[in-house]
Amino acid sequence: MDEEKKVVPKGIATNVQCTKCGRLFQTNKENLKYQESFRDESGRSYLLSYVDCPNCGDRNFVQADNGDTISLLRDVKKDFSKLAAQKAKHMTISKKQLIRFEKERQHLSELRIKLIDKIDGSLLKEVSSDKEFEVRFNKCSRE
Ligand SMILES: [Zn+2]
Repeated sequence: MDEEKKVVPKGIATNVQCTKCGRLFQTNKENLKYQESFRDESGRSYLLSYVDCPNCGDRNFVQADNGDTISLLRDVKKDFSKLAAQKAKHMTISKKQLIRFEKERQHLSELRIKLIDKIDGSLLKEVSSDKEFEVRFNKCSRE
């Protein structure tokens, strides 16, 4: 159970190299800030996941979401539980279902990469702290 708690959500890199100092470290549930609310100057909102480097404290952003990716993520999760339930009941999973699921997942990661490219380097305000950050994505987030 304790091991389970340390697992980071799917799609988040577990090994990160700090963009600033080069220190290699791992993301886990304790150091990862997951889908924190940010806004740009025109009020568009983003959910960004980040981890602070244990060596230099630099903020490494590792994933970006917005309304589109969150709703797609919901579909992916729903389909995943459906497939898992079928598997548990020893029902056959059709090739069509699997392909659909893979396509959805692929689409989600493409949307996230596009979003990262769009907001990388921009100034965004963190809603909870009301502070502005120049958002720099770690290169692990593009893989
Ligand atoms: Zn660092």
